[in-house]
Amino acid sequence: MAMTVLTERDQLGVKPGRLYVDGSWCDSSDGGTWEQVNPATNEVVTTFAVGSAADVDRAVRAARRAFDEGPWPRMHAKDRKAILQRLVGLISDHGEELNRLQTLENGMPVAFSSMAVVSSAMAAAIFDHHAGWIDKICGETFPTYEPSPTGADVQVMTFREPLGVVAAVIPWNAPMMLFAQKVAPALATGCTVVVKPSEYAALTSLRLTELIEEADLPTGVFNLVPGPGDPTGEALITHPGVDKVTFTGSRAVGSRILAASGDGIKRVTLELGGKSPSIVFDDAASVEGAAMVAMGMVSMGVSGQGCVCQTRSLVQRSVYDAFLEAAAGLTGMVTFGDPFDPATTSGAIINRRQLERVMGFIERAPSEGARLVAGGDRPGGELAQGNFVNPTLFADVDNSMSVARDEVFGPVLVAMPFEDEDEAIRIANDTQYGLGAGVYTTNIARAFRVARAVRAGTVGINEYTLMPNAPFGGYKTSGLGREGGWGSIEAFTETKSVIVGLSG
Ligand code: NAP
Ligand code: MG
Repeated sequence: MAMTVLTERDQLGVKPGRLYVDGSWCDSSDGGTWEQVNPATNEVVTTFAVGSAADVDRAVRAARRAFDEGPWPRMHAKDRKAILQRLVGLISDHGEELNRLQTLENGMPVAFSSMAVVSSAMAAAIFDHHAGWIDKICGETFPTYEPSPTGADVQVMTFREPLGVVAAVIPWNAPMMLFAQKVAPALATGCTVVVKPSEYAALTSLRLTELIEEADLPTGVFNLVPGPGDPTGEALITHPGVDKVTFTGSRAVGSRILAASGDGIKRVTLELGGKSPSIVFDDAASVEGAAMVAMGMVSMGVSGQGCVCQTRSLVQRSVYDAFLEAAAGLTGMVTFGDPFDPATTSGAIINRRQLERVMGFIERAPSEGARLVAGGDRPGGELAQGNFVNPTLFADVDNSMSVARDEVFGPVLVAMPFEDEDEAIRIANDTQYGLGAGVYTTNIARAFRVARAVRAGTVGINEYTLMPNAPFGGYKTSGLGREGGWGSIEAFTETKSVIVGLSG
């Protein structure tokens, strides 16, 4: 089985990546470059320019000028909407190319990149959804306040105005979808943007930037500065010209962003991952189906490197063995290999550092008392050159073990039994995270009871997906704020109260 990563690179015409600042493409001011490596083969795919602090400064100044003086925030809603809809068309027209670029950058199997919630079709849907808000963003008018506590006779109303310059820092695991989730609402509300993609996945961001250029946004409205967390990301999140930082990634960087935003009282939206439970009751329509979903989330596609993966399976005792059997069975259906082969189901761990971290969790779990049911090792032969890990299932896990508490970000599912609904809710909530949860039951009242009791930003009842119109975000340390739907419009605007005297 020959890997076609470099052939695909040549067919896709990948060029060295550059910065896009103030309407032009340029190299790094200090000549810095970075090598993009595909995790399936660890081959170098291309190089791209690393944005220096000086480059970031130029990008933020351009975005600042475009916001303070340019037409974008002041543009008629109809015209701004037409530009974003042009971009939706361009993303759709280049959909397959974008999906293949995503496979090239982060090793996601092309079958997953083309079909799933992380595809260019999802990115286009998110831009389309937010374009639809543009001529509907409005404030409110309030009834007169009687009796007036100050004696003033006034009409109070609100205006909803764009926040300003947005810094968007995105990770490598769903780079297109997350680019859209941040850039679409920023542009729709009239903000200007500087994006820093992950150094492990900048190719789709570079191509989307070319499409944004083709959609003809006013100069300086959109800027792209590839580069690592330090210096590029640090220069961006600490820049005084930035009004808001929107971030998806690790909790460590999330809290750094929150701290760095303190001095300037910057607005911040954070999405920081999770250790999401799926709760499977004995009256689930299909216990095997629930097991396939949970194991599928951690073993197919990006191999568990997703913030929404339901990596803790809480299973009612009477169906626990059936669940384990079905979950273990699915691990045998995983196919690793050339990410461009449509038959490949599962991708590699993004880099060597993350691979070591994932293997560390797997090696420690049995010493904490977890029972290994499937996986636990890495595929050999030709696959050994890539960062692959076999899907791994641990049973009889106690919720206090580190494999149950920490986000592994790899193909590891832990299962634990529970006796009744109260115990399930208690274990589900015994976590520092609160991003997602799944409930599997045919009892509608129980489904809603559990959905209310679980402290998580999104709860799926017998199903789990992401939708462009649903607010998305986390409770507890899983994040701050919401993006998606009207939640995004609120997150990228300020509310101004306007008070009109009626007695003059
Ligand atoms: P990360 O370090 O938080 O990276 C996310 C983004 O932040 C990347 O663009 C990264 O740049 C950038 N960054 C890093 N340090 C920064 C800084 N000081 N200032 C500004 N930006 C900075 O996450 P990761 O290293 O890719 O993955 C590590 C862990 O994060 C995973 O194990 C997982 O737990 C979590 N994670 C969660 C999600 C999610 O969807 N919530 C996604 C990815 C990772 P570079 O990548 O270029 O360094
Ligand atoms: Mg990092």
